[in-house]
Amino acid sequence: MNNFHFLISHAKLYGFIFPSCDIYDGISAIYDYGPYGILLKNNIKDFWWKSMIQLHRNIVGIDTSILMHPTVWKASGHIEAFNDPLIDNKDSRRRYRADLLVEEYCDRIEYKIHKTVEKARNILGEKFDEHICFITSPKITELKKQKERIIKRLALAIDNKTLNDIRNIIEELEIRDTESGSKSWTDVREFNLMFKTNFGPLRHKTLELYLRPETAQGSFVNFSNVSNSTLMKIPFGIAQIGKAFRNEIIARQFIFRMREFEQMEMQFFVAPSKEREWYEYWKHTRFKWHLSLTIEPHFYRFHDHDKLAHYASAATDIEYLFPFGFKEIEGIHSRTDFDLKNHQKYSGKKLQFFDYNRHQHYTPYVIETSIGLDRMFLGLFSSSLKEEEFSKGNFRSVLKFPIALAPIKAAIFPLVKKDGLAELAEKIFNELKCKYMVIYEANESIGKRYRRQDAIGTPFCFTVDYQSQRDYTITVRHRDSMRQERLSINKITYFLEEKMDFQKLIQ
Ligand code: ATP
Repeated sequence: MNNFHFLISHAKLYGFIFPSCDIYDGISAIYDYGPYGILLKNNIKDFWWKSMIQLHRNIVGIDTSILMHPTVWKASGHIEAFNDPLIDNKDSRRRYRADLLVEEYCDRIEYKIHKTVEKARNILGEKFDEHICFITSPKITELKKQKERIIKRLALAIDNKTLNDIRNIIEELEIRDTESGSKSWTDVREFNLMFKTNFGPLRHKTLELYLRPETAQGSFVNFSNVSNSTLMKIPFGIAQIGKAFRNEIIARQFIFRMREFEQMEMQFFVAPSKEREWYEYWKHTRFKWHLSLTIEPHFYRFHDHDKLAHYASAATDIEYLFPFGFKEIEGIHSRTDFDLKNHQKYSGKKLQFFDYNRHQHYTPYVIETSIGLDRMFLGLFSSSLKEEEFSKGNFRSVLKFPIALAPIKAAIFPLVKKDGLAELAEKIFNELKCKYMVIYEANESIGKRYRRQDAIGTPFCFTVDYQSQRDYTITVRHRDSMRQERLSINKITYFLEEKMDFQKLIQ
């Protein structure tokens, strides 16, 4: 089983993620979160919410509706432009996003560059210098040029909506269908990603609405409500977490690309002249946030956009090294005044800010940070999941989540159920449960109980044994090192508080 299949089956087996409607064989690209999955998801949300809202005096949170007035999507440009280029392979009849086929081809060029660098590193050993290798190797220079040419041409074709040219690129690069190996492609067509629904009981007399494809528009249409009710002054941000829906053309990478997913977005309203400065600020602040959760910083990188969304003047992706390669986990977009201006135009309502110093009104510019909660979940899950041999021939699957985000913080075990040990363990459990998500487990051997807690990522197991009755201590077993130590029962809360500290993550 490869790593990704192992991850998907672990997520199901241990109650993190189930295919939606599993008993009906599931529904493509829609998933349910299980008992430990929802806890992890809520902890990620909480960490993001605290980092964005609690720590910033000038960011407030809202929660807006999924169904919005249909004119919102005219104003935002989604009806006109929220399209992906679709292409079918005539032999396999599989459907693809045409731009992604080209991007995947470029990923393969990138991989060739990586391989060339690694080969030189092995040959030159200590004398190897990556920078020099990049500028002197004719092979790398040629590959880089080839990739740049393709990306530029793709960006141009997307901007100009010359779908034929996207098809020409696919043909010229001789891109094959991964299933059938066939190069027989249909023309490229545009496909709007929004889900439509009807408002009210009578289909023919009702309004057609859309399930929102992003949460951002809820912040834009509430700009005046929020600024008037909170007296926020520019620069300030509006943040929210909520569901978004996209009828994705291809959705084949587990929870990476779903048709129903959750976003954690923040729109930061700034003076027009300050757009670039704040874009850089949020780009780096958000990158730092990701690094605070990992011990593997090389799993993250920026990818500045060549092709920009219809509303953006600059954009970068924070990419994460998923099991299937580097892919976007969060987007940072400089959205100019596009959205507010268009909502003013379509609604006839002023969405402006009055600058008392300059005695003038202006439409604020917007920097947006937009992270997919499910992609964050997948990133965290994949970097935390390890298969380890802990003694000769004995293996464990362990989820090494950052402690503050772990679904269950501690498990409390009596060594055996008799002789009053269960009562003492239950007493400890009852004291801790008001403060922390803890579980009590008395069945099976201690070894099996440890294995199960490792598999769901519980950082600490507290075992009550006979010594506990004598000196009021328990054994603490650490998930990552498997080290065990004695701890006074009176100090358990302090021990957990110290380990769980939110500040530790954001320092
Ligand atoms: P992609 O290029 O992968 O389709 P995007 O550029 O369309 O993503 P944005 O519109 O910038 O994505 O959305 C912001 C964030 O929402 C993304 O960084 C991603 O984490 C998340 N996201 C977008 N589409 C999906 C999806 N179909 N499933 C899960 N998360 C998604």
